[in-house]
Amino acid sequence: MTSRSRVAVVGAGLAGCLLACYLARRGHRVTVYERRPDPRGGTAERGRSINLALSERGLDALRRIGLDKQVMADALPMRGRMIHPVAGPLDLQLYSAGGDRAINSISRGALNNALLDAAEAADGVEIVFSHRLVDLDPATGAMTYQTPDGEAHADADVVIGTDGAGSAVRGQLLAHDLLTESLDFLDYGYKELTIPPVDGDFALDPGALHIWPRGTSMMIALPNPDRSFTCTLFWPTGGTGSFASLSSPAAIERHFATHYPDLPPLAPNLVDDYQHNPVGLLGTVRCGPWQANGRIGLLGDAAHAIVPFYGQGANCAFEDVVVLDRCLDDTGDDWARALPLFEERRRDDTEAIAQMALANFVEMRDKVASPVFQYGRKVEHA
Ligand code: FAD
Repeated sequence: MTSRSRVAVVGAGLAGCLLACYLARRGHRVTVYERRPDPRGGTAERGRSINLALSERGLDALRRIGLDKQVMADALPMRGRMIHPVAGPLDLQLYSAGGDRAINSISRGALNNALLDAAEAADGVEIVFSHRLVDLDPATGAMTYQTPDGEAHADADVVIGTDGAGSAVRGQLLAHDLLTESLDFLDYGYKELTIPPVDGDFALDPGALHIWPRGTSMMIALPNPDRSFTCTLFWPTGGTGSFASLSSPAAIERHFATHYPDLPPLAPNLVDDYQHNPVGLLGTVRCGPWQANGRIGLLGDAAHAIVPFYGQGANCAFEDVVVLDRCLDDTGDDWARALPLFEERRRDDTEAIAQMALANFVEMRDKVASPVFQYGRKVEHA
């Protein structure tokens, strides 16, 4: 199976769309299957991260297909982390000594839409929405999709699962005894809350990633182009001192006034957000091998989902695409050699970031508040 293959990419998320662009550039014919309807023009799913920190690894992958400038047009550079203690002044800890290096807050929806547009515009790419993969024959590449009109059947020379942490492609390989997996869920979940603009402007410094380190809980906030901030509260999912322990509006108000006292004045919809936004799960997916029969592969979160504390899951998925592209270069587009080579080149790096992401949770919820991290410029309360 060399040169112009018929490739099915399952999942039109961040990794799937970027992969389609790269494969089209190589001359492959790509069909991308996505379980959701076309998100362009629609609204974001409530409770999925609304914004992402995009760093150089991800930007590099976008730059190689000329998408970086478009994506960065609406990006908000964050040059450091702003620590919000329970009492006392805010503390800006710069990411680089001169404050000249930054990570970028970008809208997940806008990024996905830009990638969908780019994939759709690429020669040889078709995107099929409202198709949920429910069955896959790893030997032949025959697939069954659930659609609003009933079952649909398709096949391909090569099938790549970019269908996220709960990957159906991975599930199919597991069901055929072609893969083993371990899923390690934290006993922490996350909930999104909003800080709207104040008089049309940002309520906090938009040039920083805001962190409220509280030991057993933590909240972060990233700026959005509409001058709001999206906060993500990380907290245990059960027991006392958990999401479940705040059951009334008064309890919610009391909790935030005590532990996050600068938030309630900035978040008029706090109680409503808290009561109605879902609690998302956080976990690490490890599995292997990432390919079967030289024709079915996994990439992005489907192969190695990580907890979000390093802000690197999407960056890492983008980097996967660049590495797979190189493997195809090095094997003359021989998928049976390229897919195992991809895993060989990528596995140690993805395991390293999985461990660093877990370690960064401890740093962000605890250590950033300790004096040893106080090397940044002190600033007054906003
Ligand atoms: P996904 O983005 O999950 O896309 C999978 C796609 O497959 C979806 O469109 C889905 O609808 C589709 N799909 C699923 N099942 C099927 C099926 N059966 N058939 C067809 N289609 C299917 N990463 C960063 O780099 N920076 C950050 O700051 C950051 N912050 C995060 C904050 C939170 C709270 C969370 C939870 C994650 C964060 N991440 C971040 C991680 C990032 O979101 C993921 O790593 C990234 O989305 C992975 O991309 P993907 O394309 O592999 O999977």
